[in-house]
Formats: sequence, structure tokens, C-alpha cells
Amino acid sequence: MTKKAFQIRLPESASKVRSEPSELRGDEQAAADRDDLETLSLVVSRASNAILIMDASGQIQWTNEAFSNLSGYEPSEAIGCNLENLVFGPSTDATTRQAIRKTLLAAEELTTDVLQYRSDGTTLWVECKLIPVNDDSGQLSRWIVIESDVTRRRQTEEALLAAKKSAEANSRSKSEFLANMSHEIRTPLNAILGMTELALTTDLSREQRDYLQTVKTSADSLLNLLNDVLDITKIEAGKMEIEEVDFNLAEIVRETTKALAVRAHEKGLELAVHMPMTVPHCLQGDPTRIRQVLFNLIGNAIKFTSQGEIVVDVQEQWQTDDEICLHFSVSDTGIGIPKQRLQKIFDAFTQVDSSMARRFGGSGLGLTITSKLVRLMNGKLWVQSSEGKGSTFHFTLTLKLGSSPEHFTDDGQSTASSIDRIRNLASQNLDGKRVLIVDDNATNRRILNEMLGHWGMRTTHCPGAAAALKELESAVRDDAPFDLVILDAMMPVVDGFQLAEMMQQRPDLQAGTVMMLSSADRPSSTHRCKKLGIESYLVKPVSASALLEAIMSTLATRDDQSLRNAPTCVASNEVTNTPLVQTVDKPLRILLVDDHEPNRKLVESILRRRGHDVRSECDGDAAISVCENESFDVVLMDVQMPGRDGFSATKAIREQEADSGKHLPIIALTAHALQGDREKCLAAGMDSYLAKPIHAAELVTLVEEMGSSDREGANNNPKSAPSRYPEPLDAGAFSIGSALQRMGGEMDLLKEHIGYVLNDMPQLMQMMSDAVDQREPRQLEIAAHRLKSLVSSYDHTAAHELAQQIEQDAKHDRLGEARGRIDALRPLVDSFTDAVDEYLQAN
Ligand code: ADP
Repeated sequence: MTKKAFQIRLPESASKVRSEPSELRGDEQAAADRDDLETLSLVVSRASNAILIMDASGQIQWTNEAFSNLSGYEPSEAIGCNLENLVFGPSTDATTRQAIRKTLLAAEELTTDVLQYRSDGTTLWVECKLIPVNDDSGQLSRWIVIESDVTRRRQTEEALLAAKKSAEANSRSKSEFLANMSHEIRTPLNAILGMTELALTTDLSREQRDYLQTVKTSADSLLNLLNDVLDITKIEAGKMEIEEVDFNLAEIVRETTKALAVRAHEKGLELAVHMPMTVPHCLQGDPTRIRQVLFNLIGNAIKFTSQGEIVVDVQEQWQTDDEICLHFSVSDTGIGIPKQRLQKIFDAFTQVDSSMARRFGGSGLGLTITSKLVRLMNGKLWVQSSEGKGSTFHFTLTLKLGSSPEHFTDDGQSTASSIDRIRNLASQNLDGKRVLIVDDNATNRRILNEMLGHWGMRTTHCPGAAAALKELESAVRDDAPFDLVILDAMMPVVDGFQLAEMMQQRPDLQAGTVMMLSSADRPSSTHRCKKLGIESYLVKPVSASALLEAIMSTLATRDDQSLRNAPTCVASNEVTNTPLVQTVDKPLRILLVDDHEPNRKLVESILRRRGHDVRSECDGDAAISVCENESFDVVLMDVQMPGRDGFSATKAIREQEADSGKHLPIIALTAHALQGDREKCLAAGMDSYLAKPIHAAELVTLVEEMGSSDREGANNNPKSAPSRYPEPLDAGAFSIGSALQRMGGEMDLLKEHIGYVLNDMPQLMQMMSDAVDQREPRQLEIAAHRLKSLVSSYDHTAAHELAQQIEQDAKHDRLGEARGRIDALRPLVDSFTDAVDEYLQAN
């Protein structure tokens, strides 16, 4: 290629413009200008970018050397051609071609990537810049086109895009795989757990019971592992969403520690909570995840500690008008962690040494999930530990201050919540009252001391019975006897009960009101308290609000001189797994749709034991046709079935009943446990949702609630505005006569009903406590509703109203309020069941 070929032949107009001054300035100047232009044209022709000049209509007038190298077209081949016809081909993107055409018409500038064809038919990507050039009159005279080869960049981009797409597809299929696996594993696990639970309710030899108990424990831990794996995958797939809702922090801490207290107390460990009353209760954040983090850390602390104590501490680090930073710590006096393993323990499937898995159980996933959750909540988690001495896990969280009307009025003042109301009362009634704390555990003494001091009480504390007796004696000598004595039940040498007995035998000590704090909630303890005249019995760890409520009500009771005959048991941690086995008086006709035979068998036998009539079908189509011809009170619908699934079958049933105005309750029965599944079921027209593995009591309660919801309206006789805590004397009022009347005077029916009361009441109370612990308002609502209808037959106004309020609390997610009411309901239910039982024995 010659240098000449690429020199720019200046367009006419340009040479004219330049020739005028040269005439004026003479030949010398004109020669210099020509020199400049020649240099310029040389530079352009040798530039590494391909450059073309086109006329106003888009015809190529000139090309440089680089264009020939890029496209394979010599200037002689290119000149006179149209750019589009020369270098674009069938694979050139039509939109880009269109954009270039529009640019040429509009005489605008454009830079775009475009796929071009070389003269040999091969393609390359170029970045093409079109620059319009106007003449003196402002008319478009020509185009300058600058092109550079960007094939490599485009290939890299395309490869990246393809990799991203394939990663997304992989992640999607991983999630789908997990959802399916979760379903596939949960389904048989459901059958294993449920059948084992059922088998455990039958007559078994000790050996058989042992075997089955092991099956149940293993299935439970398999389910936990499955949940952990699902959590990790959700977090890693970016699918774990962190909520921001109003919640009560004190309630979360109380519920979590309460749920774990049994485990700690079984090992003889103290579990203490230190959360100053000054820490705001109503905050915004994700209560489920905060509970999960606390549960993991406290669970580990209990697991790796064989003696001593676990202390959960919550402190405020800083606070602004709308935010608070909290520092949580969970300390234990356990085995500790060697220094070199401290960071490693946050890795998945990592344990300090593998023999631990055998000794303590666990998979090594808990801390991985915990640290990831804390990070998702923008917090920080760290650990301090000393081998053989114990560990402290810390985490910080910055949370918004809550705005729930439940806790704050418009002017921001703390109001209606029961805790706040009681707190106000405390300042009026407890100020200056003298209290003696007797506990061998120094942390407990420190915490109690701080709580009681906060309410203005004058505290004295001592570690055991001998010192306590001395304090009581000296208080009498100083003529300042104690108003209240708080005893720890489990102390070495002389325990709390023995000390209470000593005090009872010495009226000269004027021991005042006695409260007992215990690590174990045993019926025998309640009985011993009753015998010793101890008015309040609390299960540790005791939250500030529970302690305050108990003190207020015991002192008030004493001041009113109207002693209760049963002590208040503020916390109950007993766990019962026994399904309801008593038959119902109103059997339901139930349609069960599930493709999995063991599941069907399980659900059928649970429901048939209650006397219900169950018809089973294996798929959605069969369900639809059977619903067309027969009538049912309730349908249990599995979601994932071969052929027509549960969603589609529900839609068809809803269409069938559209004209009749009827509404058949449909409960989704599904092994799906992923986010949003509940909403999907409800959106498909289902009324409720039961996640597998199914718990017999849950299944029975929900089915009976849904199946008979329209029949129970008669029991809901409205009552006057309820009081939160009924007066003890009125509270016990109920009438067995009214119940007999309601049953048409049929003694047999009444007896049957009482049997039902005796069987179900304790379980319903337990269900309510569990529902609050596990934050399951729907379960709470169901249990409260059932309890309400049971007591209403006996005109038990106080219990009826409390149950009704609990039902309302559950509907509005006020679990803290509900807990207080459950505690108030418990003694009423106890005395009611005692009385009907006595009646049954006597008749
Ligand atoms: P897992 O408890 O299921 O084994 P984690 O991820 O919760 O799994 O904990 C990982 C390991 O960290 C544990 O196996 C144990 O070795 C160590 N670890 C966690 N918490 C404590 C603790 N409080 N005291 C001593 N070691 C602990």
C-alpha cells in the first residue's frame, strides 16, 4: 500500500477556506499550510484506528490504512460504497443498523459496538464512532467514521455474561433441588416421626420404648440438620431475607432462655439473664433471626458446660433519637476453646475436635449460621475463650427504636403495655420495701439485687441459709423486718424449701412474704410451696417483668389479706409430646388428599383415634370428583402431588363451590418449609397451613377448629369488658349445673364432657405456653379458642374472658400480653379441673 493512496484529498470547500488567507498572507504562508495538511493527512492515514470519510449521503470517500487492515477492503474497493452495504452482514444486530441509519439521517453523533464483516466473510466487533462534519453554512458536508477492533473485549464480556447466566441457572437449580430434597426428606421423616410418636403412646415394654425413643431422637436431629443445611443454603444463595418489624426484645430474650432453661437445669447449670430495665423493649429488626442467634449461642453454652453457670447479658452501647446499638453476650463456665481453634469454629462443619461430635452431638453448622445471620443484620460476632475456664460469645446489633402503638403513644410516652403499667405501679408500691435475697449463685444475687434496687427496694443478699437466718434476726432486732424474702430453691447444704420450713417454724423472724425461685418446674415443688405457705413460685431464669409482676401480685395479695390457696406458678417449661387421644363428641367428615401412603396412614390414624370419619384420596383429580359428590367438614390437602397438585385442586374446588355460596375449609398439608410457601397456599384459596412433620396435637386441633368453626358460634356469649387479672375470689366462679343443663340433663354426656375437659385442658394450656415460646400466634389462637369453648359450657366467666383475650392477643400478635394472661389463667384452670374431677369422682 503506497503512502499516496492514503493521503487525504481535501474537499473543495476546505481548500477554498484555507486558500483565502494564503492569498492574503502570500505564497510562503500557503506553502506552510499545505505542509501542515500533508503532515496531518499522513498522521490520519497511519493512525491505528480505522478512519473513513463519507459524504453527506453516507458514501465512502476515503479510508485509511488501518481500515484496510481491519476490514480487508482496499480504498479502491471501499470508495463509492455505502458503509452498511460494505461491512454489515446477516448477523449484524438489526437494532444497531437501524440506530446507525437514524444517526445518518439526523446528522447526530453516535458511538456504538457493531458486528462487522471483513472482505473474506469473517466477522469482528468494532466500536464505531460516527462524527458529522458541517460546512460553513452549517449544512452536513461529510462524516468522519472512526473504528477500533473490540472483538476481544466483546468476547470477554460475552463469556462473563454466559458465566453469570450459567451461575444463576445453577443457583436456581440448586435452590429447586434443595426445595425438592427438603420435600423428599421431610416426607418420609414426617412418617418416621409421626409413627414413632404414635407408637410411643401404645403399651410397650421398656426395651421397645427405649428403641423407639432413640428413633425419635435421631429423627429429630436429622430434621434439625436438614433445617441447618437449608438455612446455610438460603443464606449463601442470598435468599435469606432479614425482616424489619417491631418486636419486644425483652420478650425474645425471655422466651429463648425459658425454652432452653430445662436443658440447663437438667445439667444442674444456672441460667441467668441480665438485661437492665433501661434497655428499650420495643425495637425494630428481625425477631426470628435474633432468637435463632441467641438460641444457638445459649444452646452451645449449655452443651459445652458441665458445671457452673450461663449468663446472658444485654447492654446498651449507644443510643440516638432513632437507633440503639446493643451488645449481647453469652458467657459460660464450660470447657472453653483452644486459642488456635478460635477462628476456625466459625467455619462450616468445624468442631474443636472430632470426638466432640460424638460426645456432645451437633454438626458444626450452628456457629456458621449464627455468624452469617449476625453479619446479615449488619452486626459483629466474636468470641473470647480460655481453655478449661469457659467462653463468652459476643455480638452487637444496631437496631431502630420501635414505633409500635402497643408500646408508645403519639407523644412517645410509654403507655398501655402491661409491663409499663406494672412498672409505674412498682415505683409507687415497692419503693423502700425491704427484701432479702438468698441464693448461692453470685451472678443471680447480683442480677436480682440490680432488678429489685431498680424498683426502689432496699436489698440485702446472702449466699445461704445460715447467713439468711442471721439477717432475719438482726432485721427484727432493728425493728425493720423484711417485707419480702426471695429464696433460691436449689442451694447446697440447706435448700430453699428447708430454709422456708425453718422460717415457718420461727414466727419471731417475721419473715414476711416468701417467694421461691427454682430451676425446675415440678408439680411436687408447687405442692411443697403450697404446704409452706409460699405465695409465689417462679421458674428461672426470671425476667425482670415476670419478677415484678409476681412481686406485685404477691404483695398485693398479702396486703388485701385475701390469700390464694394455690401458689402462682409463673413459668412452666414442661414439654409434652402426647397427642390428643380422646374421642370427640362431634366427629367430623374429613377428606385427606396425599399421594404418600405412610403419610396418609399416619394422618388417618391420628384423626380416627379422635373418632373422625376420614376418606383418603391420592391425587388432586380424585379429590375434585369426590368433593363434587360428597360433603366434608374439612379437607387436608397435600401440596406437591404427581398429576394435579394441591394448589390446582383447591382452585377447582373453589370454582365448584362458587355458585353454592359454601366454603369448604381446606388445610394445606405440606413438606414445603421455604419462605413464602404459607402465602402461596393461602393465595391458592386454602384456609390454613400445616408444615410437615405433623405433630398430632397440632393436626387435631387445627382440623377440629377448621372443621367445626361454624358450629361453635353459640358458645361465644359476649361478656362485659374483661379485666386483665380477675380477682381471685370471683375468678373461680363456674357452674357444673349450667353445664348439665346445657347437656339436656344427661349425666352421661356431662361425664363425657368432663373427661374431655380433664384430658384436654392441661394440653391446651401447654399448647398455649408452647405457642408463645415458639412464637406461633395461630396455634395460640386455636388453643385459646378451644379452651374458651370448653369452659364456656360451665359459665366460667373469668376463664372464658381470659381465653377470649388470649385469642385476641394471638390474632394481633401480642404474645407478651398473652403470656401474662396464660399465667393468670393457669391457677383458674387448675382449680377448675380439680373441681370437675372431684365432681366426677363423687358421681
Ligand atoms: P456444633 O455445636 O453443632 O458442633 P457449632 O458451629 O455451633 O457446631 O460449634 C462449632 C464448634 O465450636 C463446636 O463443635 C465446639 O467445638 C465449639 N464451640 C461452640 N460453642 C462453644 C462453647 N460455648 N464452648 C466451647 N466450645 C464451643
